[in-house]
Amino acid sequence: MKQKNLVKKLEGIASRLSSINDLSALALNIEKILEEIIDVEHTGFYLWSPELKTLKLFYAKGFSEEERIEAEITAMERHPGKVFRERKIISVPNVLEDTEHTSITSKRSFIIKSRLYLPVMNLDECVGAFGLASTKIDSFSKEHIALLSFVCNLTGVIYRNLISANEIRESEEAMRHVSTRLSLATRAGGVGIWDWDVVNNILVWDEQMYRLYGISADQFSGAYDAWRDGLHPEDSQYGDQEIQLALSGEKEFNTEFRVVWKDNSIHHIQGLAKVQRDSSGRPIRMIGTNWDITERKRVSDQLKRSEDNHRIINNFSTSLLGADNVEEIVWNITHNCISELSLEAASIYLFEPDSDWLIMRATHGRGQDKDDQTLDPVRISLGQGLIGTVAATAKELIVPDVTTDAQSIRDGQSGGSKLAVPIIYEKEVIGVITSDHSQKNFFREHHLDIFLVIADLAANKIMRAISLEKTKKSELKYRNIFESIQDVYAEIDYDTGLIIEVSPSIERFSGYAREEVLGQPLNAFYAPPGPTQELTEALGKHGRVNDVEAILVDKLGLHRAVSFTCSIVTDSSEYPFKIVGTMRDIQLRKQAEVALQQSANIKTNFVSNVSHELRTPMASILGFAGTILRDKNMDEETKMDFIRVINEEAHRLTCLIENVLDISRMEAGSYKLTMEPTQLEHIIHEVIENQTVLANKKNIDIQYDIEKDLPLVFGARDAISQMAVNVLSNAIKFTNPGGSIMVGLSLHDGHIVFDVKDSGLGIPPADLTRIFEKFYRVERAKREDVGTGIGLAIVKEIVDQHQGTVRVESTVGKGTIFRVSLPVLIPSSE
Ligand code: ADP
Repeated sequence: MKQKNLVKKLEGIASRLSSINDLSALALNIEKILEEIIDVEHTGFYLWSPELKTLKLFYAKGFSEEERIEAEITAMERHPGKVFRERKIISVPNVLEDTEHTSITSKRSFIIKSRLYLPVMNLDECVGAFGLASTKIDSFSKEHIALLSFVCNLTGVIYRNLISANEIRESEEAMRHVSTRLSLATRAGGVGIWDWDVVNNILVWDEQMYRLYGISADQFSGAYDAWRDGLHPEDSQYGDQEIQLALSGEKEFNTEFRVVWKDNSIHHIQGLAKVQRDSSGRPIRMIGTNWDITERKRVSDQLKRSEDNHRIINNFSTSLLGADNVEEIVWNITHNCISELSLEAASIYLFEPDSDWLIMRATHGRGQDKDDQTLDPVRISLGQGLIGTVAATAKELIVPDVTTDAQSIRDGQSGGSKLAVPIIYEKEVIGVITSDHSQKNFFREHHLDIFLVIADLAANKIMRAISLEKTKKSELKYRNIFESIQDVYAEIDYDTGLIIEVSPSIERFSGYAREEVLGQPLNAFYAPPGPTQELTEALGKHGRVNDVEAILVDKLGLHRAVSFTCSIVTDSSEYPFKIVGTMRDIQLRKQAEVALQQSANIKTNFVSNVSHELRTPMASILGFAGTILRDKNMDEETKMDFIRVINEEAHRLTCLIENVLDISRMEAGSYKLTMEPTQLEHIIHEVIENQTVLANKKNIDIQYDIEKDLPLVFGARDAISQMAVNVLSNAIKFTNPGGSIMVGLSLHDGHIVFDVKDSGLGIPPADLTRIFEKFYRVERAKREDVGTGIGLAIVKEIVDQHQGTVRVESTVGKGTIFRVSLPVLIPSSE
């Protein structure tokens, strides 16, 4: 081939290849060009794959599919690999002489006689290898090699260019893909993108930005101010500041702000941006994103509010810990409404007990906090005004604007808003908590929420305080009763018999202090056997006992009769665990009983004594009179003696009957004496004379000393005589035979003194004070001194009616003196 032809050929090849702009066209062209240069049985054009790190067949001729695969797999081990690595042409003119060569297919190797391998170069980079195999020995001339080399190198360059172009296209494609995806993603995530040319103040927004700001593109001027105008008035200055800080590089732009839409709705936006600067650091561009965080804000605000509420409620209840009366509680709550909830005013109304009136119990705020007192507190009837309505309906209410609320106008509210929440305890409204604010629409749902909780807290606290106050009152009442009762209240442990409670009155009873008694066994304070056993047995049978008597031994060792009234207290399973009851002092009752018994005995004795006293004289009267009647021949003297005895005995009977009648008159209150000036000497003489007969019988000597010309007394003659008989007859009766009696009548200090002194038995000192009592008699060993016990009682009554006195002095075994003194009659001055 001529040189000129060669050049022409090369030019043709170059122009054909350089117009190629895709890889498949390159492969096709190379195949054709190569065929034009040399016609061989097998060609394989390998290109280096950086990803697979091996040579891949780009174009092949004369290969079966199987051979293609094998060729690629073994390429790097055979000549193509060597050529690629060493970037040198390998020519094998006669394969039989080539020791290195290993054919890909042994069955075919026998027909291949010569081979040629060329590196495919892009400038100094090897991008592949080209192999040719011929069935003829020495098939490849120098010219062939030069042409093929040229084609290979040109292909390398074109291939590289095509690959680069492809890569660019692919990356452009990928970019397009990514940006589509990004925009889809930003749209779905609500992210808006903005791009602000700082130098020319051109702000470009994407579609989503308009959506975020609630405007359409035509409403947007495209300058910085347009963004700023969309912000909430309270945030625009802050927004400016953040942008400036980002531009100056002091702070990254990552902030939150609010935008206000045309419909006045407020939307929270999160903004993030990057500042681009020129080589001198001057900001030229700011690219950023915005997305809506309203929902997130709402949730986090709600969370914060609920945390706040928890904190507030916690503070409310903590500060209520010490408050245990209603007054303290209501004031504490109204105070806290101001300090914890930053309200202007708060009041609490509670129902007055058993009425339909609500009364303001506490109000705080607006200067109402002086001394925690509601002077002249407001009273509201059920159903009246906002508070009355809330109380009546048990439903919380917010009045956003009191000027448009009829009820509030009636309540005299001039402006602002109000809130009222019922205070409910166990489904019953006990009051209302209310707050008002000078601003309209101030109260929101969350105020209501927190007020409901506060009302609940207040209800529980107030009711607990009320019941505590009630308990305290009743406790105080019972404590007072407990401490002031005359009887002793006591509680005794059923099992141990120990005293577990006792009222302080025990000290009056026993001299033991309450503390000395507590914890001691009941029986320790009683004379044996003690009341414990009797009480437990009786209570075991009846559950309750009245009047079990016992003898208390007091601290001084003195005995005192007491009586128990007790009952058993059982626990929830009916098991008795204590005895409660009272102990009463029955000492006086006991004494009265004894006295009553004594007086009953005395009366019985009296009746038998009177019968006896009557029977004796009656017997002798009947005896003597019967004898006189039967003995017709009785001598006169004897008869006279008998009649005298009858007379004496009849006289004694009369006296006795007189006395008995008098005593019954005295008991009936009808014993009245008729007084007149009376001379005593004669009466006393007569009595002595009568009694001497009796005295003589006992051989008792009666002496007397009666003054003469004694003044008169104002008295009753018969009564005075009866008095003297009673005294003198006693003296004879209680003086042994042979004894003596001295009777005196004299004047002393304006009194006539009648005294009777005997040498008789005397009266024991213990009886001295009682001998003037009706029916009282001194018990004596001998029965001979039978009497009725009424003589001295009559003496005392008669003396009393004469304004006189009667005294007795006595020494047992020696004698007795009775002294009666009666005032003398003072003659009138006329
Ligand atoms: P009576 O003499 O019928 O028993 P009285 O009332 O006259 O009743 O006397 C009451 C008691 O006073 C008597 O039981 C007696 O024991 C005592 N008494 C009265 N006078 C004397 C006296 N002169 N000496 C001793 N005892 C007397």
